[in-house]
Amino acid sequence: MAKIIVDSKCTGCETCVNICPASVYEMINGKSVPVRAKDCILCRTCEAQCPEGAIQVFEEEEEQPKAEQKIEEKEKKKEKPAKTTKPQKTKKPKKKATQKPKTKAK
Ligand code: SF4
Ligand code: SF4
Repeated sequence: MAKIIVDSKCTGCETCVNICPASVYEMINGKSVPVRAKDCILCRTCEAQCPEGAIQVFEEEEEQPKAEQKIEEKEKKKEKPAKTTKPQKTKKPKKKATQKPKTKAK
């Protein structure tokens, strides 16, 4: 993920808007704004082409999300119950249906 800074030197010439292959920039109130910085492919063409030297493109390290992922994984492992051996099913002897002796009606 890129972090893009357009500083106050921007004159709104639209060069970056026109050359960015990822259409990251949009003109807002006469200034270039990197509204789709997440789409940046870090080619740094904008940095090189801006006549005012107003653009700085950084490669933002994603340390924080990775660290969060690791924490989540640890928590998931904790949540999982320890493997227990299943209690063996013992077959209960079926109760024999006891038939009531039929009494003859007198
Ligand atoms: S190329 Fe530079 S001066 Fe031109 S609009 Fe983009 S940031 Fe502004
Ligand atoms: S570095 Fe390349 S992709 Fe990223 S904003 Fe600049 S011109 Fe666009």
